[in-house]
Amino acid sequence: MWVNGAPDYTGAFCPLAHDTPEAGLEWEAVHEALAQTPPFAPLHIVSTSREVVLGLSKRIDTWEDSAWLDVRYSGTIRGVVAWIRGRSAVTTVRQASVAGSGPRTEEAMSAADAPPEAERAVAPLKFLRDGAKLASLTQSGAYRLMLRKEWEAGSGMRPTTARVVAQVLKDLALGPAEEGKLWTDLRDRDLARKTREFLWKAFHGAQKLGRYWSNIPEMGGRAVCPRCGEEESMQHILLECGSPPVRTIWPLAAEVLDKKGVCGPALTYGAILGCASARAKDRKGVATRPASRLMKIVRAEAAHLIWRLRCEWVIGRDADDTRDHTVEEIRSRWHAVMTRRADLDRSLTSRRFGARALKWELVDQTWRDTPFQHKQYVQDSIPGVLVGRPNAGTGLPTSSRRLRDDG
Ligand SMILES: [Zn+2]
Repeated sequence: MWVNGAPDYTGAFCPLAHDTPEAGLEWEAVHEALAQTPPFAPLHIVSTSREVVLGLSKRIDTWEDSAWLDVRYSGTIRGVVAWIRGRSAVTTVRQASVAGSGPRTEEAMSAADAPPEAERAVAPLKFLRDGAKLASLTQSGAYRLMLRKEWEAGSGMRPTTARVVAQVLKDLALGPAEEGKLWTDLRDRDLARKTREFLWKAFHGAQKLGRYWSNIPEMGGRAVCPRCGEEESMQHILLECGSPPVRTIWPLAAEVLDKKGVCGPALTYGAILGCASARAKDRKGVATRPASRLMKIVRAEAAHLIWRLRCEWVIGRDADDTRDHTVEEIRSRWHAVMTRRADLDRSLTSRRFGARALKWELVDQTWRDTPFQHKQYVQDSIPGVLVGRPNAGTGLPTSSRRLRDDG
């Protein structure tokens, strides 16, 4: 890195790029050049990195529109953009053809041996746009931005989240090194968006229940379960409470898995939250993707439904145990949720989703031998009749988007 403060020429060169092929270091070099150059002096950035040159000349608007989602080194690049916008003099960027060519480049190379004089200056971030451009945001992009925002709002992982993560890893017999997998699996499209959000919030203790209320005047009563007086927690609500949804839905979920011979980790709070990462075995004792997938969907949807019924009971029925959901009501809600989930799966096999379409075989193997399998199989399961592939994703009453939103 070499910067000359002369007003007629300021060169920046990144020798690190010569032997370190990491674009991140090159972005750092550009950042440093901008930080050290007065805003009124022309600056000519010469970089050997195509990524830097293309980024600066063509991609900044797109990156900014997407709120820098999935942009490598976005922290440094945002600083670079802020510095450039704060400048009054001209700034150019040029690709260096061969590293080390030209007298000025050599001068830059030799000057780069000197250590930097000061600590990295902070870029004037007021020149950056906040948030994302709605028109250029996909649904999944918006969801991930929301997660990132929530994540940034807290200071890293809270102790309660760390405890939940440890419990999930233990219940799934996974090592501490596999923590990252829990978070990536939670984004898995096998689960409906709202169900994923529910699990993610439960990991972070983000639902307003139990201890959340104990510090709020006149709300202290909400810290205990209105049904049994126990301390209210998500674990209590999903598994331990004697509520009709808990007593009804888990046996219904087990019935689906048992019918198909799917067997996975014992039903614990950790196994429920970590269901996206859990492995299940089929009837033959072999861990397969369809078996794991069915268990994941069944457990996640069961937990989410129990939570929703709880909210309905507390908010809509004043936590009055004479106004509980009846077993019949709960059974039909479960059936509706799972039928819709299976329909959504089948609609996502449609060719109109292109490369993102689900494989029909996977969806078929997931739901076959469950009460939610495709009706055509029920009709065609006569010995000797060859079962063809039904028209995937067509003829369904509701579009996948609608189903997904209702999820
Ligand atoms: Zn309770």
